[in-house]
Amino acid sequence: MSNKKYKKQTNPGPGTQSVWSADSEISAYGATQMPVFHSVTFNYHDLDTWRDVAMGKKEGHIYTRNSNPTVNVFEEKVRILEGAEAATSFSTGMAAISNTLFTMLSPGDRVVSIKDTYGGTSKILLDHLPHFGIDVQLCDTTNHEQIEKEIAKGCQALYLESPTNPTLKVMDLVRLSKAAKVAGATVIVDNTFASPINQNPLKLGVDLVIHSATKFLGGHSDALGGIVCGNKEMVKKIFHFKEVFGASLDPMSAYFLIRGIKTLELRINRQNSNAMQLAGFLQDHPKIEQVFYPGLETDPGHEIAKQQMSGYGGVFSFSLKGGYNNIKLLLENLKYAHLAASLGSVGTLIGTPKTTSHVETSFEEMKKLGIPENLIRCAVGIENIEDLINDFKSALEKVIL
Ligand SMILES: *Cc1c(COP(=O)(O)O)cnc(C)c1O
Repeated sequence: MSNKKYKKQTNPGPGTQSVWSADSEISAYGATQMPVFHSVTFNYHDLDTWRDVAMGKKEGHIYTRNSNPTVNVFEEKVRILEGAEAATSFSTGMAAISNTLFTMLSPGDRVVSIKDTYGGTSKILLDHLPHFGIDVQLCDTTNHEQIEKEIAKGCQALYLESPTNPTLKVMDLVRLSKAAKVAGATVIVDNTFASPINQNPLKLGVDLVIHSATKFLGGHSDALGGIVCGNKEMVKKIFHFKEVFGASLDPMSAYFLIRGIKTLELRINRQNSNAMQLAGFLQDHPKIEQVFYPGLETDPGHEIAKQQMSGYGGVFSFSLKGGYNNIKLLLENLKYAHLAASLGSVGTLIGTPKTTSHVETSFEEMKKLGIPENLIRCAVGIENIEDLINDFKSALEKVIL
């Protein structure tokens, strides 16, 4: 049974798609929500059909490591929001990243990337890919000329994030994708920080877009997941790699992610607005050194962000005057913020790179990455902005200059 009314609409907006796409088309017993198919294996009444499904000639499910109806609905929702031909999901964002890189690359290949990738990704690029004979060139994140030069020297993949973690640098995705096309390289972008509501990299010339669904897509810090979207051919290769390497998304987690996605547009719009106002408040505050947020007109990434993003996202970072003790005073006096890792949740999350994304990175390496030692990363939630501003106002009063 499918929802015919939804199918008839042409070009529904992202808010409508988040709610109605995919699950309303597969309605078991008339249920309005996608059930969790807690079944590892699927039964066939005749051997021929089973065989056709196994050979990929007919649609169907055989074993949940390969595919599952609930998991498929999650994949469909994100695929539609990213405007992709195909999508395949993973147990975590890191599984999506590692499986994609290991599928797309072979020994002897060369990858061009940036110094500011997510901590775990950086580890794969620096430690694990070279171990398999893959050459990795990390460029200064803000130096587009250097990145273009490295691409032109020849590479099989260009791996980017935008905005980056944790200093919210903006990469010109159109410009760098063009350079990669000339070199014949596959462009892979981690779109976690922007979410598909604010940015659709595939429309900017990118080949594969990855999300840690654990963050904005799920939105409630209660489920892990990852996804990669792109053309059918590439996604199929990555899917076959995952099938045997086994980092499949669990149906229960898929259900939480589906439920989260239904409010994605509402949450993102609120988080865009909260981040903008809180970043603006902090920028004018005498105890704050610098605010990093592409939504601010003074931010070096603002102009490019304006062209490729429809909103600037729910994450910003800032450096506080004074030392570690002041960071402790501010963070420990906030009422409406979890001192916790992660981002993209309905509740504000705050931390320092040293306790979140760069746990395994030394202060020396961080300096090289241009991350100030006194940096604080804030991922705003959907609270009322007056409460967030007042909370920061009173916590900042405790900070001593
Ligand atoms: C969190 C995060 C990841 C890793 O995702 P997990 O779901 O934790 O494995 C990758 N990239 C970015 C930008 C992230 O924020």
